[in-house]
Amino acid sequence: MTEYEAVIGLEIHAQLQTVSKIFCGCSTAFGAPPNTHVCPVCLGFPGALPVVNRAAVDDGVRAALALGCLINPVSIFARKNYFYPDLPKGYQISQYEQPLASRGLVEFEGPAGPRRVGITRVHLEEDAGKSLHEGFSDSDRKTYVDFNRSGVPLIEIVTEPDLRCAADAAAFFSHLREILVWLEVNDGNMEEGSLRCDANVSVRPAGQATLGTKAEVKNLNSFRFLQRALEHEIDRQIDVLRRGGRVVQETRLWDSSAGVTVSMRSKEEAHDYRYFPEPDLPPVIVDEARLERIRSAMPELPDARRARFAEAYALPSYDASQVTQSRGLADFFEAAVAAGAPAKAAANWMMGELARALKEAGLPIERSPIDPRRLAGLIALIENGTISGAIAKGVFGKMFSSDRSAAEIVESDGLAQIDDDAKIAGPIADVLAKNGDAVAQFRAGKASTLAFLVGQVMKATSGKANPKRVNELLKKALEAGPAGGAG
Ligand SMILES: [Zn+2]
Repeated sequence: MTEYEAVIGLEIHAQLQTVSKIFCGCSTAFGAPPNTHVCPVCLGFPGALPVVNRAAVDDGVRAALALGCLINPVSIFARKNYFYPDLPKGYQISQYEQPLASRGLVEFEGPAGPRRVGITRVHLEEDAGKSLHEGFSDSDRKTYVDFNRSGVPLIEIVTEPDLRCAADAAAFFSHLREILVWLEVNDGNMEEGSLRCDANVSVRPAGQATLGTKAEVKNLNSFRFLQRALEHEIDRQIDVLRRGGRVVQETRLWDSSAGVTVSMRSKEEAHDYRYFPEPDLPPVIVDEARLERIRSAMPELPDARRARFAEAYALPSYDASQVTQSRGLADFFEAAVAAGAPAKAAANWMMGELARALKEAGLPIERSPIDPRRLAGLIALIENGTISGAIAKGVFGKMFSSDRSAAEIVESDGLAQIDDDAKIAGPIADVLAKNGDAVAQFRAGKASTLAFLVGQVMKATSGKANPKRVNELLKKALEAGPAGGAG
């Protein structure tokens, strides 16, 4: 039986995080009452003139640089003509022949190893409005339209057909999302539609150079949907070919409840877009000075920062990846280390107690009640032996709900570790006297009894005795022979 391989390319639309729309001053905020963020420009009134939002262009350049693209010094807006009720002008302003950027390359970690994907182009465009087909008493007869989204700035990122399986496509999309969110170019919110993915997929006999006929699967708004839709579509196409049929070039939709892709329109019905240069907008110029200004303000990207953390701070790669889940976390980690915390200890606290407490409080790291300097202060008290790890967890809880430092809490609550042997001797004598059985067992050779006795002494001192000293002193007392000659 012929073996087949899949060929996948992605088209990703990402909403840029500008305050205002791409060609007018209307707000881009999500969730406003319908048709309240609109003006003659984004409603396409005759005579209204668009003016390009510089912040949107800069965001597009930042994203394209992070994807390894060449930024074209001159790019041109074009009118993409088609009729649809959510498109008031009858055309969408996009870029066609001369996009903002092209020829990028992205390396990422797929489930089965490192992968590379070429980026064909990154271009700027405006979003359309939103048709509302349900939710109204007359929705069976009417469709409503909300133009708040009309004119919201997008970048479209088009990849080369370099992906070969559904799992790699999902991993790439996830990697791309991480970069865009890290750059603060996109909020990564796929439920609200800020990040959407279409996939072009075809299959061919393994080893064949020419491409098979492709289908486009539209609007895949989660990594899981992308993967499942591609898995299904690849199987479907292979099945068609094995039965001696022909794959039809068409647009398909993912039906997530049925777990299948379904035909939306075939090539014959497809939009035959006509593009014209946009006469109302001048070319977008990104000269050397502007490019340099943007480039020099680019943050270190997540993969690079992860590698540097592992290397410079000798962090295990798991820890390095955990503390670089977001820019906020990575900044927090480096600030804690700069404030004197050993790297591994800082990572442990961030992945453990801090992550738990933030999650419980529903707070992002940027709003952590404990700042990096205070966390470093707590870790310093453990490192220098002032408090034990167990006491530190209690101190952490008090720090989280106050603005006191660890040292202040330890001082005012009398939590400092007891290192003075003379102060530990009393509780040890008490524990030995009260636990005759355990003492006898230890002396009879059951060494594990020691841990129990240490625990009793720690309990008697409210956890404040230095556990190492307790261990040593107990052992000494037990090995010195029976006190009072009882055994
Ligand atoms: Zn407007």
